[in-house]
Amino acid sequence: SVKQPAGDQLPRYARVNTLKTTVEDVVDYLKRDGFSYLGKATTLADLSLKERYFLSDLHLPELLVFSPKTDFHDHFLYKAGHIILQDKASCLPAHFLNPPPGSHVIDACAAPGNKTSQLAAIMKNKGRLFAFDLDGKRLATMSTLLLRAGVTCQQLANQDFLKVDPDNPQYKDVEYILLDPSCSGSGMVCLQDNTSADQEKERARLASLASFQLRCLNHALGFPRLKRLVYSTCSIHKQENEEVLAACLQQNPCFRLVPLLAEWPERGLKPLSQCLRASIAKTLTHGFFVALLEKHSKAGNTND
Ligand code: SAM
Repeated sequence: SVKQPAGDQLPRYARVNTLKTTVEDVVDYLKRDGFSYLGKATTLADLSLKERYFLSDLHLPELLVFSPKTDFHDHFLYKAGHIILQDKASCLPAHFLNPPPGSHVIDACAAPGNKTSQLAAIMKNKGRLFAFDLDGKRLATMSTLLLRAGVTCQQLANQDFLKVDPDNPQYKDVEYILLDPSCSGSGMVCLQDNTSADQEKERARLASLASFQLRCLNHALGFPRLKRLVYSTCSIHKQENEEVLAACLQQNPCFRLVPLLAEWPERGLKPLSQCLRASIAKTLTHGFFVALLEKHSKAGNTND
């Protein structure tokens, strides 16, 4: 029988920050620091590691995988911004958006900014990265994180994304948007509890989150030159994921879903199998959902 890993048995992931270093240099540093490197993983099962062993991830080239409970918070590589401690699932949105250096990008709900720093690394700090968040305190944390990570292409704003004007000339060249809005957090292993008090309240909370998420999506698709958008949540509820996407696609026929990573073992619930889901049991990550939307070359063509 397959044993389901508990939250404290999740591998620990570290994303190499290519704005400051390279994967090779980090691997060498860790080897000198007493860790044993096993090369690139070839199956998910490889990611279950013994203490002080590590691997390169099989899906994401800049991601290193360690045994559960490995803690880098006091490590030089973390303090110097050479590695970012980020769950594998949460590395997927920026990876799929993949904005080229020089592009103009919006991170709509950005704090505390791990995905923003990943976007900046993909963009090689070239171009413009507009990052919004409603919460001033979280945005302050984000400034510190981005400074440590050597990010320089960002423009932070303590602003409600829903009030950002898509027709403002500042955003006329925005072709890429990452939308990672507030969600129930039901995929976060540490937040899971089965004592779920009031079901009625929970239903109302999910409905209100889903309505906010759909408004954010519709708003984002209104940026005039938008080509690609990634939508993600750390929720496992279909109300916040597939149902939001289905409603959005119905209201925005110029956009379609792009099939993501064929070899990924967990798909969006049918019929949205182009999207990805993630979970402890199937992907050795927190619970997560990711969708990539792309504008049709011919507006209105919904045949494929
Ligand atoms: N993308 C972030 C990261 O990877 O570090 C995590 C984002 S978190 C899931 C959602 C964020 O959305 C919160 O920081 C919250 O303050 C922000 N938020 C909520 N409503 C917003 C709005 N209307 N406009 C902008 N940000 C908003």
